[in-house]
Amino acid sequence: MTGDLFSDVNDIAHHEESHINSDHKNVVEKMRQLIELIREHSHAYYVMDAPTIDDGEYDQLFFSLKKLEEENPSLVQSDSPTARVGGRALGQFNSIVHQVPMLSLGNVFNLFELETFDQRVRDRLAGQKNQYELELKLDGLAVSLHYHDGKLVQAVTRGDGETGEDVTHNALTIRNLPLLLVDPSGKPTPRILEVRGEVLIPKSGFTKLNREAEAKGLKTYVNPRNAAAGSLRQLDPAIAATRPLAFYAYSIAQSEPMHDNVTQSESLYWLNSLGFTISERLEIVDSIEAVQAVYDQINAERENLLVEIDGMVVKVDSLRQQQQLGFLSREPRWATAYKFPAKAALTTVEQIDWQVGRTGTLTPVARLNPVFVGGVTISNVTLHNIGEIQRLDVRVGDTVSV
Ligand code: NAD
Repeated sequence: MTGDLFSDVNDIAHHEESHINSDHKNVVEKMRQLIELIREHSHAYYVMDAPTIDDGEYDQLFFSLKKLEEENPSLVQSDSPTARVGGRALGQFNSIVHQVPMLSLGNVFNLFELETFDQRVRDRLAGQKNQYELELKLDGLAVSLHYHDGKLVQAVTRGDGETGEDVTHNALTIRNLPLLLVDPSGKPTPRILEVRGEVLIPKSGFTKLNREAEAKGLKTYVNPRNAAAGSLRQLDPAIAATRPLAFYAYSIAQSEPMHDNVTQSESLYWLNSLGFTISERLEIVDSIEAVQAVYDQINAERENLLVEIDGMVVKVDSLRQQQQLGFLSREPRWATAYKFPAKAALTTVEQIDWQVGRTGTLTPVARLNPVFVGGVTISNVTLHNIGEIQRLDVRVGDTVSV
């Protein structure tokens, strides 16, 4: 009797173990698939400057992997892109190891996620008051500039965050990038200064660039970000010089001796006084409600800005508090990108069905391969009526923009 019971328990335990094993196997398989897909798309985007899916879809893959990892922390794969930044260097340029790693930023997509970020900041600051500094999230590529005694000596791309590419020859052609820093207060500039920011192509320049490419029968660029990345990574600086690149400074990575600024906003105004272009919008606020209000305003007015942005960056303003908060894997704990909803995303039509309404009317509905856009996943869209199907000429298997 006892023996039977024992073997039953053993059986159950064995059964559960194999159940867990097969569950684990499925999760790992799913993780591997996502890692492979993300690797492919990161390569196309960061290394080749030619993405094959849009950012909303990429973010959705990344988000799915992050979620799986949060739910199964023991199964996180050692080569997961969630612990990494960007892409590897192309190999055409000299590789430079960053003395201070160049990280990415965490993302939030709505007020709830923003409040969660704020709560975490406040918990860690244990009762200290804090202010947030708000900047535009510029959609270009991150570059680090090294100045010695005020003179630009090197420009390096972010690369994988640890090692980037030496693009000094091309950076020298960027018109708004100061080659020699002069402090208007008369103070000498630091012996060593490392300034980080975004290289991008302003909207007007992008339209012109694509118009010229079209006229010459050349391939046009998908978006200003890829055009900027492709331009900065030209082997020939004479080509880069013809591209309307601009540099926007957003942080100081190193300063020897230390500069006198005690907040992020002061640092930016100081950089501006040294000759750098900085974010067109810069605000300092005391509450998360105010962060949301500025976000809504910028989102509403983003069409009028000179540059393409994909959100707003929220940073703890005090540099002392930033230091106290520190970093977590690939992201600082003191900042996050409050992203704007993607305006459109590409997907495929899987099926077209007819839906019967309450009054008996028939409405065609396209069943889509689910796609993440504007903060939601869309899998069905109404086609209204047969006329609309004919007008759009949609068919099963078509790639469509929603
Ligand atoms: P990210 O662009 O979301 O955010 C981090 C970067 O923001 C920083 O490195 C910095 O360069 C930049 N930034 C802009 N303004 C800033 C400011 N004011 N202060 C500080 N930093 C600022 O992260 P990421 O890791 O560079 O790339 C992810 C992005 O790339 C996502 O938007 C993703 O959709 C896109 N992506 C798309 C594909 C694709 O196939 N379509 C592939 C890979 C990545």
